[in-house]
Amino acid sequence: MDLTLSADEEAFRDELRTWLEENHPGEEPKGDEEEAFAFRREWQTKLHEGGWAGVSWPKEYGGRGASLIEQAIYSAEMVRSRAPSPANVLGLAMGGPTVIGHGTEEQKERFIQPILSGEEIWCQGFSEPESGSDLASLKTKAVKDNGDWVVTGQKVWTTFAHHSKWCMLVARTDPDVPKHKGLTYFLMDMEQDAVQVRPLRQITGQAEFNELFLEEARIPDENVIGGVGNGWMVAITTLMNERSGLAFGAMAQVRRDLNDLIELAREHGVDEDPVTRQRIAQLHMEVEALRINAYRGLTAIMKTGQPGPEGSLGKWAWSDINQSLTEASTEIRGPEAPIIDEAWTYRFLRARANSIEGGTTEILKNIIAERVLGLPKLR
Ligand SMILES: Cc1cc2nc3c(=O)[nH]c(=O)nc-3n(C[C@H](O)[C@H](O)[C@H](O)COP(=O)(O)OP(=O)(O)OC[C@H]3O[C@@H](n4cnc5c(N)ncnc54)[C@H](O)[C@@H]3O)c2cc1C
Repeated sequence: MDLTLSADEEAFRDELRTWLEENHPGEEPKGDEEEAFAFRREWQTKLHEGGWAGVSWPKEYGGRGASLIEQAIYSAEMVRSRAPSPANVLGLAMGGPTVIGHGTEEQKERFIQPILSGEEIWCQGFSEPESGSDLASLKTKAVKDNGDWVVTGQKVWTTFAHHSKWCMLVARTDPDVPKHKGLTYFLMDMEQDAVQVRPLRQITGQAEFNELFLEEARIPDENVIGGVGNGWMVAITTLMNERSGLAFGAMAQVRRDLNDLIELAREHGVDEDPVTRQRIAQLHMEVEALRINAYRGLTAIMKTGQPGPEGSLGKWAWSDINQSLTEASTEIRGPEAPIIDEAWTYRFLRARANSIEGGTTEILKNIIAERVLGLPKLR
């Protein structure tokens, strides 16, 4: 693949850089989580008004219709400029593309626009206490009653559920067929008494995700996405968008953080220390390998139209690199490392979740073993 940008791609990058210089909102406020979320929501409104929310979405749905290279440029520039995340990350990365891919015209008309503007926040209600990696075994059930679906069960790790209007919910609608076939994908209104949201506090001190208790929550039939019994297929679209959305932003993030780590080593006077230098050199090679692999994945999609297994390899490598990079930062910082409100301490603690969220490392290794190396299937 030729990595030189075309004139059009350079123009895209320059337009974005100029816009960011003029509109960057500054650093996200620390401390109060509500205030930080309101700040992100305001930032998303600005992105939307500037035409920079949903860049990968087709133009007819209010996106920018950006090519894959432009999407990669977008992610890299956002990280480079240290722009905050928009409020509706899950809606933009997964909810919108799922409704565009599987929704009816009425559903697109109803749901798409408020995702882009950040007026309605979305969450993903897939995982349950006993179903994470083996998602298809989930137990939350939905039963038809007078044109509505009545949903009972429990979800967990539901990121941003406490801010959300809509939940991408997968529930069992037929217990008598093989597990993958008995699922349906719903859009559930979170604003009802039958939906109880309880925040879970993480090791970072923040409560980013939640438990959801559903006690006869009601969902109108018109909020089924992709047809009754097709929930597994629709859920795969959501999950594919989750992983592909990660690749370039993640790559740019570890490159930027490695540069920060080099600066940190200088500040602490250990940049001449041979062990620290070897550690940084090793990380540099890993970050470069990740970058080249991400481009290899991009080339495969451009040639075949399908994301290849490179996505799983990239997610695994990224979580390993990010954990190792943030561990190196604690060694460099020495006794001051446990100070909880320092940015590096947050990064170190938050990185522990990288090998679990969006598919655990063990599951990714199974995918690579089976689909890349052709090893026998476990089951
Ligand atoms: C920060 C964060 C945010 C999240 N946000 C959301 C969200 O918004 N919505 C949502 O639905 N979920 C969310 N999750 C949940 C996440 O998708 C699950 O945690 C993940 O899929 C793993 O499931 P589990 O926790 O049930 O672990 P389990 O599936 O029970 O796995 C436990 C351990 O067993 C290993 N294991 C399991 N099966 C196999 C196998 N076949 N072969 C080898 N090893 C195996 C796993 O790798 C893991 O180490 C989030 C998780 C985190 C950490």
